[in-house]
Amino acid sequence: MANRPEGLPDHIQHYINGDNVDSISGETFDVLEPTTNETYIQCASGDKEDVDRAVKAARKAFDEGPWPRMLPRARARILYKIADEVEKVNAELAAIESFDSGLPIRQAQGQANRAAENFRFFADLIVAQVDDAFRMPGRQVNYVNRKPKGVAGLITPWNTPFMQESWKLAPALASGCTVILKPAEFTPTSASLWPAIFEKAGLPKGAFNMVQGFGETAGDALVKHPDVNLISFTGETTTGQLIYANCAPHMKSMSMELGGKSPAVIFADADFEAALDSTLFGVYSLNGERCTASSRILVERSIYDKFVEAYAERSKKVKVGDPSDPDTEIGALVHPEHYERVMEYVEIGKQEGRLIAGGGRPEGLDKGNYLQATAFADVPRDARIFQEEIFGPVVAITPFDSEEEALELANDVKYGLAAYVWTNDVQRAHNFAHNIESGMVWINSHNVRDLRTPFGGVKASGLGQEGGYRSLDFYSDQQSIHITLGDVHTTRFGATGYAENDLGLGGPSA
Ligand code: NAD
Repeated sequence: MANRPEGLPDHIQHYINGDNVDSISGETFDVLEPTTNETYIQCASGDKEDVDRAVKAARKAFDEGPWPRMLPRARARILYKIADEVEKVNAELAAIESFDSGLPIRQAQGQANRAAENFRFFADLIVAQVDDAFRMPGRQVNYVNRKPKGVAGLITPWNTPFMQESWKLAPALASGCTVILKPAEFTPTSASLWPAIFEKAGLPKGAFNMVQGFGETAGDALVKHPDVNLISFTGETTTGQLIYANCAPHMKSMSMELGGKSPAVIFADADFEAALDSTLFGVYSLNGERCTASSRILVERSIYDKFVEAYAERSKKVKVGDPSDPDTEIGALVHPEHYERVMEYVEIGKQEGRLIAGGGRPEGLDKGNYLQATAFADVPRDARIFQEEIFGPVVAITPFDSEEEALELANDVKYGLAAYVWTNDVQRAHNFAHNIESGMVWINSHNVRDLRTPFGGVKASGLGQEGGYRSLDFYSDQQSIHITLGDVHTTRFGATGYAENDLGLGGPSA
C-alpha cells in the first residue's frame, strides 16, 4: 500500500449538530485503497437512526437557527471564508483524494480550487440576486418572495467526490437551506475534511450535517425521511430511478445528475490534432470515471483510418501507474467491484469491436485496480460497449459517412448528458449541436464550463438543470405576493350580486 496520507483520523465518523459521532449501532465498514484493495480505514456506517438524528439537527437549525434568516451578504461572508478554508487544504485534499479513489495526483491537485470557486461563485450570486416584481399601475403590485426550501438531502458519487460535494453544498447553503450530506461509500475519506472547514468559517451549528454509509441504508433513509424537503442526487441512472420513486410519496423536489455515454463527433474538416488530444483526454482523464467522458468517438470515414491509427498509437503510450506518481496519467480504478464491472465490458468489447489498444492489466502491476487505456474501433451501434456506460478508460470508435448518419449515431443511445463536435464549418457546428439530444455540447473544445451556464442532462442522463441561478432556484421556493393598491373590487355575492361589466373573476388582469 502507498503511504497513508497524513492527518487522517483513526476512523471516519458522521458529523451531526456540530459533533463528530459514531453510528448509534456502532457499525462501521471497510474503506479500501485501490492500488492494493487493502482496508486502510474504518468508516461509520449510518442507518435510519443516524439519519433521523441528522435530520432533527438540520430541521432545528432551519426552523430556529440563524442561517436561513441571515442577510445574503452575511451568508456570503461565511461562504467566502469556507472557500478560503477549502483552499488551505489543497495539498491534503489532493493526497487523500488520490489515495482513496486512485485518481492520479496531478489530476487531484486542482480539485480544492474548483471546490472553493463553487462557494465564491454562489456567494456572489446571492448578493447580486434580483427577483421579479410586476406592477399594474394604480391597481396591484406583485413580487417574488424567495425563501430557502428547507432541509436538503445531498447524495453524491465517488468520482471526484469532494468537488461533487461542493457543487451541491455551495448552492444549498447559499440559498439558506440546512443540509445533510451522504457521501459515496467507496470514497468517504475526503468528506471528513468538511466539518473543520465549516467550523473554522463560522457556519452555525446544525446547518451542515453528514451521515456516512451505504446507499441502501443511509441514502435510502435520507430519501424517505418525511422531514427532508428536497433531494439532490448525482449517480447512476438506475439509482436515480429508484430515488425518483421513493421521493414520490412525499412529493419531494428532486434534481438528478445521472449517467452518460457522450459522443465526440469528428468531421474531416476539423483540426485533427486538437480533436485527437481532446478525445484522448476526454475518456482517459480522471481514470475514465467521468460522467461527461467522450466515451463514443464518431469519425468521418475519410479520416477514419488515420484517426484510429493515431488514437491507438497514443493510447498505447498513456502512462498507467501509481496514482501518487506525478507522471501517472491513469491511476487505479476506484474499487474492486467497479473494476470487475469495467473488465467485463472489456471482454464484451473484444467480441463486439476491434481492439486497437490496451484491453487488460498493464505489465508489472499485478495487484490493484489497474487497466490499460483501452480503445475499440469499428464498434457497431447495437454493441453494448456503444450503448452502455462503462465509466472507465474504455472508448468505442465508429465511422460515419454523412452528417445525417453522424447525428443518428450520436442520438441513438438512452443517455443525453454531453456531446463534443469537431468541425471548422461554423454553420454545421451550430446546426449539428442544436440537433444533438444532450444537455451540453462543446464545439471544438473539451469539458470546460462557465459556472453560470446550465449543467445537466436530458433523456436518461438527468432531471432538472443546475448551474448559476438555476441551482439557487432549485434550493428555493419562489412565493408570489400580490397586493392591491387601490380599492378592492369584489363581486358582492349575497348582496348586490354581479355588477354591470363584472366578469366575476376577481381581481385585475394584465
Ligand atoms: P451510484 O448511483 O451507485 O451511487 C451514488 C450515490 O447514491 C452514493 O452515495 C450511493 O451510496 C447512493 N445510493 C445508492 N443507492 C441508493 C438508494 N437506494 N437510495 C439513496 N441513495 C443511494 O453511483 P456511483 O457509482 O457512486 O457514481 C457513478 C455514476 O454517477 C455514473 O453513472 C456517473 O455517470 C454518474 N455521475 C453523473 C454526474 C452528472 O453530473 N451527471 C456526475 C458524476 C457522476
